[in-house]
Amino acid sequence: MNVAFLGLGAIGAPMAAHVAARHQLTVWNRTRAKADAFAAANGASVAPTPREAAAGAEVVVTCLATSADLEQLLEGPDGLLAGLANGALLLDCTSGDPAASRRIAGRLAETGVGFVDAPVSGGVNGAEAAALTVMAGGLPEALERGRPVLECFARRIELMGPVGTGHAMKAVNNALLAVNILAVGEGLAALVAAGIPAAKAVEVLNASSGRSFVSESLVPERVLTGAFPVTFRLALLDKDTGIALDVAEAAGVDAPMLEQGKDLLAAARAVLGEEADYLEPIRLIEGASGVEIRA
Ligand code: NDP
Repeated sequence: MNVAFLGLGAIGAPMAAHVAARHQLTVWNRTRAKADAFAAANGASVAPTPREAAAGAEVVVTCLATSADLEQLLEGPDGLLAGLANGALLLDCTSGDPAASRRIAGRLAETGVGFVDAPVSGGVNGAEAAALTVMAGGLPEALERGRPVLECFARRIELMGPVGTGHAMKAVNNALLAVNILAVGEGLAALVAAGIPAAKAVEVLNASSGRSFVSESLVPERVLTGAFPVTFRLALLDKDTGIALDVAEAAGVDAPMLEQGKDLLAAARAVLGEEADYLEPIRLIEGASGVEIRA
């Protein structure tokens, strides 16, 4: 299959590498050097513009920071819309915004191009292991057309409903992750300050009912070790939590817990900056409480 992949960021690049192993792949990235390095390492072609990437592609995959970035990429003489052929399919793996996705799908439908929002979960490790979960929104037949591409990097592919529902699912998932990171950070800081060694607290938590993905995987790998690697930007998690609040508001559901999480995350982002990792708010909790959660 002829496939184009646009957006070779932290998670896009390992996803695209799996696509290159099974399909004829053309890549485009805003920062050209990343596309050149990717193509040299993975045997793909580099397109100089989004239009040229889309030309001749049966399936185009985008993995950008936000839906606004995709809307921008569609337009103009060198935009995706100028290159996408009638009958082509756009799979948007960005963790995007449902309302924007419905707009994008409508715009693409005018030129006979299908759209599926297909955000992923599983992190950079999951992308490298081709073990991501895809939360899809769109027509079942469109998802079936995209499946041979999604299967390159996903272990599980779930259709949630019409366009936008994949992005809604992903945003709420990440909002719950955000709230949990903050809550686990606060709880462990309290235990350490109360005199319980961090490793012991985490071990017992993980044998008890308060355990979670954060306490079982993220804290042992990144916080107890002090490693804090940058794999997913806090700015992106903040964006996702905001989208989840929009989803709740549009559905008429009050979400004060998520709102509080969003406020705390936005405050942490303002202090830590755009390149900080999503676990780093725990550093701020440590600083404020005067303890370190380390083994
Ligand atoms: P990065 O910030 O590492 O990469 C973002 C990508 O989008 C880069 O290729 C960047 O280009 C491109 N981009 C950003 N703005 C624009 C723009 N205006 N026009 C064109 N290209 C643009 O993000 P990730 O790879 O980590 O994340 C990508 C998406 O996947 C996000 O929506 C994120 O929320 C989601 N996600 C990320 C996960 C992770 O663990 N990292 C996990 C699950 C989902 P350039 O190289 O030029 O900056």
